[in-house]
Amino acid sequence: MWSLKPGIHPTYQRATVQCACGNSFVTRSTVPLIHVEVCAKCHPYFTGKQKLVDTAGRVERFRQKYGASTPPLGDKATG
Ligand SMILES: [Zn+2]
Repeated sequence: MWSLKPGIHPTYQRATVQCACGNSFVTRSTVPLIHVEVCAKCHPYFTGKQKLVDTAGRVERFRQKYGASTPPLGDKATG
């Protein structure tokens, strides 16, 4: 006779959530480590700031493209 083995269902354990903003907290999950890009600490909905949402650096590219803050360097600007 076969008996159901324990552990067939994923067991929820302590999981550390590591956010891209550097914040980390502990929750429960089936995996021990979770990587997220936005957490409750840095989410604009909670912070009210537009920050770290775009971790791929598209904001930086946008700035460079439109020259909002940094002047273009390295180009043949002077002739
Ligand atoms: Zn975060």
